[in-house]
Amino acid sequence: MQGYILNINKVKDEDLIVTILTTTSLLTLYRFYGARHSNINIGYKIDFESVSSAKSTISMLRNVLHLGDSWMNEPRRFFVWQQFIKLLFKHLRDVEKLDSFYFELLNEIKQKFAKQNPIRVAVESYVQLLSYEGRLHDDFVCLICEELVTSELVITRSFLPAHKGCIFGEIVDKAKIEELFLNSSTINLDDDEVDKLWKILQEGF
Ligand SMILES: [Zn+2]
Repeated sequence: MQGYILNINKVKDEDLIVTILTTTSLLTLYRFYGARHSNINIGYKIDFESVSSAKSTISMLRNVLHLGDSWMNEPRRFFVWQQFIKLLFKHLRDVEKLDSFYFELLNEIKQKFAKQNPIRVAVESYVQLLSYEGRLHDDFVCLICEELVTSELVITRSFLPAHKGCIFGEIVDKAKIEELFLNSSTINLDDDEVDKLWKILQEGF
């Protein structure tokens, strides 16, 4: 089976509790410490086996093979990737059954990271996620006063729109954000604008 490691918790000694996103579920597996084990890290895509045991309610993580990409050796790209994965974990942590959307989204991001600016890919992918979950507020109704935002748009956590006068935050270009929400594309945003959105994204999904 294949999956993405979303989280790792150390338990007694060197044993680990590992949370893995597969196509349809979020698995929590146990890995005993052992010198023969391959190294694992948050964000790795792995091929693995889940082995149930009569002694424990939690299944064992076995036969791990890291399905790496060369870009994962680039610290900057890998850092952005791990940030995105950690946010995704917080967002999905209480879910067991999942639609394949999340697994497929990570597959897409993993491919794009090889060639594209990782910050742009992260922002665009997050818009796709909001749209999929029906949380993309592309009607531009203000989060606070519930009136339409026509100018002086501010984007807050979860990319929620608001008026500059209603909430603290920096003004963003509404036409550009409309384009982003419509096409999941940052093509019309400059690097500073994308960086601002990345900062907002890191407040949480
Ligand atoms: Zn308002």
